[in-house]
Amino acid sequence: MKISVFGTGYVGLVSGVCFAEMGNTVIGVDVDEKKIASLKDGVSPIYEPGLDQLLQSNYKSGRIDFTTNAKDAINNTDIIFIAVGTPPFEDGSADLKYVLKVAETIAEHMNSYKLIVTKSTVPVGTYKKVKSMIEKTLKKRNISLAFDVASNPEFLREGCAIDDCMKTSRVVVGVETQKAKEILKKLYEPFLRSGNPFLAMDPASSEMTKYAANAMLATKISLMNEFSRLCEKVGADIDMVRHGIGADHRIGPYSIYAGIGYGGSCFPKDVMALIKIGTDLDENLQILTAVEKTNALQRRSFIQKIASKYKNLSGLCFTLWGVAFKPGTDDIREAPAIDIISFLLKSGATVRCFDPAASENTLDYFKNEKNLSFFPDQYEALDNSVALIIPTEWKSFRNPDFNLIKSKLKSAVIFDGRNIYKNSDMKDLGIEYYSIGRPHYQPTDLG
Ligand code: NAD
Repeated sequence: MKISVFGTGYVGLVSGVCFAEMGNTVIGVDVDEKKIASLKDGVSPIYEPGLDQLLQSNYKSGRIDFTTNAKDAINNTDIIFIAVGTPPFEDGSADLKYVLKVAETIAEHMNSYKLIVTKSTVPVGTYKKVKSMIEKTLKKRNISLAFDVASNPEFLREGCAIDDCMKTSRVVVGVETQKAKEILKKLYEPFLRSGNPFLAMDPASSEMTKYAANAMLATKISLMNEFSRLCEKVGADIDMVRHGIGADHRIGPYSIYAGIGYGGSCFPKDVMALIKIGTDLDENLQILTAVEKTNALQRRSFIQKIASKYKNLSGLCFTLWGVAFKPGTDDIREAPAIDIISFLLKSGATVRCFDPAASENTLDYFKNEKNLSFFPDQYEALDNSVALIIPTEWKSFRNPDFNLIKSKLKSAVIFDGRNIYKNSDMKDLGIEYYSIGRPHYQPTDLG
């Protein structure tokens, strides 16, 4: 099948490469010339495990190419995916200007039937806007061409995006015609060989499914985070509670880890957008409003733990292990670490960081911050620091050399935002340890 994908970001690039891997011919289109030049050199502009290898092999075999020339891409393909960003406006609603711009561009250049598929996360009803933009633009050109518009929300998780895409749990499509459904079913058959479902529905339900999925996951996380704060007050251990409830099939063990709150480019934005959709329709989404507030509170309460230990942070040096919003990605959008770094810098502290993938993006974000530095080695980043703070659970942090940590830090203190260490181990090692929803060990407790 001949496919073009507009937007070669986290979603568009991964989807495009996976379509190519299944034997399709793919053209990735972007307005960002630098990104396209890098892709043409076989270098992925984003960090995602396994992506570089798939990109290079499919590029070499000619199954995927990249361009800024929208017209050529449209005229040489039959299925066109829209995978551009839908960033939030100040009031939380999704900005559809990039999606609608692509729809307009498609209609300006198309010269035969096209199936236009929205993969970006969009508010319910966007398919109608895309359709009407195409109709309006074709009318301006004074031509009549058949086309279908479909919704196909993306459920991949950054950090394991290739696996999520190649072995997707389900494919959801919102279609209005049998033709659109059949084309998408054929495209996705190779991804569903293990029997996972192809779910065709009306476009509104498909668009709603994406928001509902993210809202449900964000709710689980916030509820566990709320429990974690209570656990600290009543002397319970949230990880024991997690095991205790996760064994119940009705609850399940996934997405119930307490931490420092969800981040990334999806959950915060999509929860906000859904609340706004509700408000506009006179539906007060009270649970989601609480989910969002709880998420913000969870971040603040972690920062408060650091602030309460030190009377004055000015002049102190802290080390952060992990800045990306989750392991396996260089994405720092809405990452809790960004709030932590901002707080420390504002308080006059110096911050030394290690992250296997996100240093470039972070330094870019905190331009001109002389008190922020990155180190290529996680232990080197510890020199002169009064504490190690862990906002992201990269694998290399799970079983580190604690004696080296202790010898490098000025004082053996760890603030762990992801509960990756055992309280008992920290106690044995003589490390003052603060985690989430579990008893802390103060120096006076240490034997
Ligand atoms: P991104 O910011 O990484 O990439 C978007 C790309 O679109 C950029 O490269 C940008 O230059 C390009 N673009 C903008 N206008 C364009 C145009 N007119 N023509 C061609 N390219 C254009 O975004 P992303 O993280 O890949 O997210 C894309 C969409 O997918 C969003 O709606 C997001 O909510 C959704 N989504 C994201 C994830 C995720 O994990 N990142 C998962 C599921 C769904």
